[in-house]
Order: sequence, then C-alpha cells, then structure tokens
Amino acid sequence: MKPLIAIIGRPNVGKSTLFNRLSERKKAIAIDQPGATRDRNYADASWNGRSFTVVDTGGFEPVSTETILMQMREQTRLAMEQADIIIFLMDGKDGLTPSDEEIVRQLRSYGKPVFYAVNKIDGPRHDVNVFDFYRLGIEPLYTISAEHGRGVDELMDAATATIPATEPAGEEAHSGEEVEEPIRIAVVGRPNVGKSSLVNRILGYERTIVNPLPGTTRDSIDTPFERGGRRYVLVDTAGIRRKSRISQNLEKYSVIEALKTLDRCDVALVLIDGEEGVTEQDAKIAGLVLDKGVACILVVNKWDLVEKDNSTVGIYVAKLRDELKFLQFAPIVFVSALTGQRVGRIFELIDAVWAEFTRRIPTAELNAQVERYVAENPAPMYRNRPNKIVYATQPRVKPPTFVFFVREPKAIHFSYERYLANRIREGLGFQSVPIRLIFRKRHREKDRR
Ligand code: GDP
Ligand code: GDP
Repeated sequence: MKPLIAIIGRPNVGKSTLFNRLSERKKAIAIDQPGATRDRNYADASWNGRSFTVVDTGGFEPVSTETILMQMREQTRLAMEQADIIIFLMDGKDGLTPSDEEIVRQLRSYGKPVFYAVNKIDGPRHDVNVFDFYRLGIEPLYTISAEHGRGVDELMDAATATIPATEPAGEEAHSGEEVEEPIRIAVVGRPNVGKSSLVNRILGYERTIVNPLPGTTRDSIDTPFERGGRRYVLVDTAGIRRKSRISQNLEKYSVIEALKTLDRCDVALVLIDGEEGVTEQDAKIAGLVLDKGVACILVVNKWDLVEKDNSTVGIYVAKLRDELKFLQFAPIVFVSALTGQRVGRIFELIDAVWAEFTRRIPTAELNAQVERYVAENPAPMYRNRPNKIVYATQPRVKPPTFVFFVREPKAIHFSYERYLANRIREGLGFQSVPIRLIFRKRHREKDRR
C-alpha cells in the first residue's frame, strides 16, 4: 500500500493547484464558480523516487464562515483517519484566519505527521506576508507558491522524507532503515583538471559508464551511489566523462556545462589543477558556483605532481583564498585523483558541508542570538531614529536564508549586513556554506501593536 498524503485547508488556498503540480495533471481541475461540486481527487504521484497517493480534500463550496469551519473540521477528521501524512495549506494573501488557528489546534492534538505551509508566496516580496503566521509557533513553517513552484521542493522533500524510496538500486539494503535524502554532487572545472578521473575514482570503475537507473534520460546521466551507509548522486556523470572535442578545445564550454549541472546539485566540487593553479576560467566557474548559492568544496587536484615541503600547503591556501576571495567559506582539500590520495577526505567534507547547508535554526533561538548581535553592535540610525531589527526568521535551507524585518531595509548597509552574516556564521554554525540575508520592511500597523 502506498502512503496517502492529504492536502487540507480552507477553500481557495490553492489545494488543487498543489495537487495538480504533484500529480502532474497540469490541467486545472479547480472549478472557479461558486456552488460547483468537485469530486474528491486522488492521484498517484511520486517525489524523488518515493511513491504515494495524494488526495485533494477540496470538494465543497461553503456559503458562510460557519460552514467553512464545519466542513474543515470534517475534512480534517477524515484526513486524520485516512491519511499517513498531512499537508495543511494556508493562504499567504489572506493572512492567518481564525479557522486556520482552530484547525491547527485540532491537527496538533493528533499524532500524525503534519506539514504546515503558507501558499501564494510567489516571490521574495511576499515573504513579509508570512510574518503573521509565525504567531502559530509552528516549526518549520514552509512558504510556497503552489502556482509557480517556489518552495514546493522543500515542502515535499520534508513531507516525503519518511517514505522509503523505491529505486531499483540498493533497495533491500535500506529496508527498515530511515531513508535520508541523497546528497547531489556536481564536479565542475575546466577541461583536463581531472573531473572524469575523480568521478572514476569515486565510483570505482575505470571503464564502464554505470547506468543503474535506466528508463529516463535524466536518471541515466546521474549516478546514485552509496558510501559509508550514506546516499549520494553524482550529477551528470555521463557529461563529465564525455570527451567532446568542443569541451576539449573550448574552455568556455566548461562554463556552460557547469551552469547546467550546478542547477541540479547541492554540493559542487570545484576542481583546480594543482600544478597550474587558479586561472581566469577557474575563477569564472567559481563565480558561477557562488551565484547559484550551492555549497562547494575547492578540490586541488594533481597534488601528486606538486613538489612539496612543510610550507607548501599554507602558501597554496593563502594564494587560493586571495584569488577566489568570494569563496572564503569553501573548504579546501588537496587530492590526487590518479593515486586516490585524500579522496575519502572529500566525503568527510561533503557530509560536514551538507549538515550546515540543511541546518534550520528555530525561530526563537535565532531571535535570541540576533538580539545579542544587535545589542553589541546596533544597526546605524535612520533619520535619527534607531533602525530596529524587529524580528528574524530562517524560512529556507539550501542555502540557509535569513529574513530580517526592520524599520528601514534601505538603511542597512553592506558593512552591517556583513557584520550580521559573520556573527550568524560563527554563532550558529554556518561557517563553510553560503548563506543569504534578506532585509524586509516591517509593516507600520504592526509596529504600533
Ligand atoms: P483550493 O480551492 O484550495 O483547491 O484552491 P485552488 O487550487 O482552486 O486555488 C484557488 C485560487 O488560488 C486559484 O485562482 C489559483 O490560481 C490561486 N492560487 C493557487 N496557488 C497560488 C499561488 O501559489 N500563488 C497565487 N498567486 N495564486 C495561487
Ligand atoms: P577532465 O577533462 O577534467 O575530465 O580531466 P581528466 O580526468 O580527463 O584528466 C586529464 C588528464 O589529467 C588525464 O591525463 C589524467 O590522467 C590526468 N590526471 C587527472 N587527475 C590527476 C592527478 O591527480 N594526478 C596526475 N598526475 N594526473 C591526473
């Protein structure tokens, strides 16, 4: 039996929009006219190889607030009885309503896993609409746009995390164990730095291109594998191994290849030729990594070719830090894909970086810390009044993203942003990953409360 995921929430919060997205029935089932009956919609769906049945509990058009609440109670009760996992959607445009609050109370009194999401947060400028919902004290609170897909990945990754993956490879080995999300790794770098040598070394095959997930083009170019009981996916394995004349002759092409793989990875291994050092092309690829906001590790390869003494590594690190200033946070490792030296260390770093990249700081703890940072070094005044940071939250991971609600975002200068970023990195354990800070204007009417 497949697990059942129920989407519940008030009418028009976007349940069927989310349902359609998950069931990939893009044609809207939603009927906008009031009074129209909608059938209970079931569909088989899957997420990252985890299969489930999703049910959209819509199917009524209430005429009054009272009936909304009545029907929501009924809907919730049904979902509680039938579903294994529940997604409770709220409407970021409408704000928090009393019926939301009541249903949240009801949901909390049961033992089933519930994932709470605020929908219609279509872009960063809507993030401020989430503010109200933090009153519920829900951790974590997902912010999504069912219509545009924003944040849906995170919600669904979490909601399906406990469903066993039904991938053909390694299924038996995992039965009974909790299945973690695989870490997606991209190997990027200019031609001849040793990308395919490293990939071969990691996968332990010299000749064959492994193709453990036949069927779809997308799966067949990525290679899932296991190491030390952890699951990983090497993104675009075939592309890395393919020795096209173009990529050999045109260094620029490696930037395009990197661009494609970076969109699909969590951690990028940026390969640098230890003998040649950092070139302009390397810096370009590293810049892309920064832009994409993925975690990364600087892998200095061909270290076997470098003549070394006691100070070689120190000097090399200093030079690398200077040449790639914008990636200060990225760990550095010196390896040889040829001999296999320290390739294992790459995985220790991947695991460490992943832990930071996916770390979520509870809102209360974050605010307690931020209060301290601000007390020690307040934000510069704005028009002779303190530019108070009212509230902070971390709505996202991958990369960890922090939103600060302040009186005047424009008056937060780069140097103050850097101060906060550094304190967060040190104080909350985000030292080796990119983080994002967003400053939003606090609503006036809320200031008065
Ligand atoms: P349901 O009654 O809860 O199933 O809600 P629907 O899926 O029918 O959506 C209600 C309305 O909200 C429709 O007009 C959707 O286009 C709209 N909607 C759904 N999701 C989003 C979203 O993420 N952003 C915005 N702006 N509108 C959305
Ligand atoms: P790619 O174009 O980035 O995929 O690079 P390749 O993996 O094809 O490697 C380019 C050349 O560098 C090949 O001749 C490899 O044998 C060699 N190479 C790769 N890694 C190492 C290494 O760690 N040490 C040495 N000495 N040579 C290496």
